[in-house]
Amino acid sequence: MIPVCEPLLTEEDIALAIDCLRSGWISSAGKYIEQFETLWAKYCGMPYGIAVSNGTVALQLAVKTLELKEGDEVIMPTFTIISCAQALIYNGIKPVLIDMDPINWQMDRSQIEAKITDKTKAIMVVHIYGHPADMDPILDIAKRYNLYIIEDAAEAHGAEYKGKKCGSLGDISVFSFYANKIITTGEGGMVLVKDLDLAERARSLRNLCFQKRQRFLHDELGFNFRLTNLQASLAIKQIERINEIIGRKIEIAKTYNSLLQDLPLQLPMQETWAKSVYWVYGIVLNDKRGLTSQDLIERLFEKGIETRPFFLGMHEQPVFKKMGLFHSERYPVAERLARYGLYLPNGLTLQDHDMEYIAQTIKREILQ
Ligand SMILES: *Cc1c(COP(=O)(O)O)cnc(C)c1O
Repeated sequence: MIPVCEPLLTEEDIALAIDCLRSGWISSAGKYIEQFETLWAKYCGMPYGIAVSNGTVALQLAVKTLELKEGDEVIMPTFTIISCAQALIYNGIKPVLIDMDPINWQMDRSQIEAKITDKTKAIMVVHIYGHPADMDPILDIAKRYNLYIIEDAAEAHGAEYKGKKCGSLGDISVFSFYANKIITTGEGGMVLVKDLDLAERARSLRNLCFQKRQRFLHDELGFNFRLTNLQASLAIKQIERINEIIGRKIEIAKTYNSLLQDLPLQLPMQETWAKSVYWVYGIVLNDKRGLTSQDLIERLFEKGIETRPFFLGMHEQPVFKKMGLFHSERYPVAERLARYGLYLPNGLTLQDHDMEYIAQTIKREILQ
């Protein structure tokens, strides 16, 4: 079976993990946590990094840090992981959805302004599948309406918008370091912020709001969202070789582009203002031909190829229907992407001959 993604840890990553184990600093204090926060914030061009246990809680922490209030609204794309919507809902905030751009699969910025009300406090931008969202118009709207920008860059390590790194474009940004992300600590996440007060607030909330001077005195309820030093140790060398990692992702995408170019498929594109890191390599089947992504996923699986379907929009989630959210809302682009989109194996352990086999198999299955 060719896996959709397999993490690649090298001997230098393992050496630091062993060093961490030998040092005894296996909990959430220790030098690797600080190094990880400093190195990652610096790489992204943000002043402060707060490492947390995963990307989902990074979103929850980011929203909590901004002190949005019960009943506030935040605009976000429907086509994303559920972590984005639940970070708002757990904070009592109403998610307000936007459909996607059919060409680059990012949030359709032209739909944002119509959704702004006097309760809107922020826009949560998600860079989908390694390609940046079109930020300038979104930043312009945020400025005119005095809204925060929360940037979910969990799929966009090293991706750039007009030469600036994803994760440095908003007020607060989050990353995930789950095993299939571009840099991984197994499980892990980070919140990046521009403002020192917000950084201190996020740090305090991450660690149960223990006070510095009197530890067991609490002014506010926080969380235990700490990352371990052992997990952080895995990231240090990956950050040093990130250009190599991203280079391989781009090379895989280019190879697939040329192998699949003549088929009736929509392939990932790169806008002129974007540097995509092709976190996943997505393809969208032609909706007029009858074959859905679920059909193709099953057929490829029988041929030893593991793939994954695209996101199912938030407005189509049973859990939110039960909560009375997004009632009868329709987002046709997201609905089509969910039914006809899938992504192919593109992990760092993938071999070139695997890609040829995958492309040939897809060709046979969709043209038959
Ligand atoms: C992976 C991902 C997350 C969640 O990260 P976890 O570490 O898996 O909790 C959040 N947002 C996006 C866009 C993601 O792709």
